[in-house]
Amino acid sequence: MLSVQEIERLSEEFETRTPREIIEWAVGMYWPEVAMSSSFQTQSVPLLHMVTRIKRGLPVFFIDTGYHFWETLMFREQLASDWKINVIDLYRDTRWDVFARQNTRTLPLEDPNLCCYLHKVQPMQKALKDVKAWISGIRRDQTSVRAHAKILEAQEDGLLKINPLLNWTKADVKRYMEENDLPKHPLYEKGYRSVGCAPCTIAIGVNDDERAGRWAGRGKVECGLHTDMFRKKDIAEAKSEFHLDVTKVK
Ligand code: SF4
Repeated sequence: MLSVQEIERLSEEFETRTPREIIEWAVGMYWPEVAMSSSFQTQSVPLLHMVTRIKRGLPVFFIDTGYHFWETLMFREQLASDWKINVIDLYRDTRWDVFARQNTRTLPLEDPNLCCYLHKVQPMQKALKDVKAWISGIRRDQTSVRAHAKILEAQEDGLLKINPLLNWTKADVKRYMEENDLPKHPLYEKGYRSVGCAPCTIAIGVNDDERAGRWAGRGKVECGLHTDMFRKKDIAEAKSEFHLDVTKVK
């Protein structure tokens, strides 16, 4: 296991490496205890393309919130089939089922942080317990939170988060997609530049920020997977982020 100092040194060194070199290092160092996560939108395609060509069979976690556009699910099916991706679907803990069913329509609007926590953060926390390294596709140019991320980030429980595309820009994604003739999410050309769950995603203009259509007007820019909420290991710790009285459901 790498020390904190080694991780910091390598992270600095990787600032000048290509995403492919960083992924190859991750696979060489951690296989078979390495996985990546993907939301199967247009921005996700370059990383999926690289990873599936470097290590066939590497697990790709897809969080099935139950709120996805059907176009996302179809796109996921198509890519998984064409590229033989080892997709592993993640679902909310069944202990939330009654609460989630009772609040299906209102939860994303009334308390999106709680909704993201139980549908995304908790399932990912659970899945990542089985690996030592997590490859994520975030980029610094996407949000103010991601602007401060590092290429290698050690989590308290020993998990290493690896962000190979961190230094890429929107233009780099476009260039890679064109050079490799990669498919786009079906909603991309309809103005959905960043696609999340249907209740929390709208189409945007060509000059808007890439993620302007996510939780638009609700003061939220991240689902929690790439913020401090993710490091809170259980609901008792994370509860301060929520507005609903979650004591009733656990
Ligand atoms: S993106 Fe919206 S619908 Fe999806 S989990 Fe988060 S709040 Fe719920």
